[in-house]
Amino acid sequence: MCKFGCSTTNMTFKCKYCGAPFCSSCGNGAGGKMRAGNVCSSCNKSNHRGDKV
Ligand SMILES: [Zn+2]
Ligand SMILES: [Zn+2]
Repeated sequence: MCKFGCSTTNMTFKCKYCGAPFCSSCGNGAGGKMRAGNVCSSCNKSNHRGDKV
């Protein structure tokens, strides 16, 4: 499971701006559900996908 509860294990990335982890499969991040797949739920910047965690 990802740390936010969906069944994938390898889709968790870090925001390259604020470092908050998020899952690109279920769309949940450290700040809650992301508005869109490319918008960070913590800092609200777009195209935030950074390194895989
Ligand atoms: Zn997930
Ligand atoms: Zn962020």
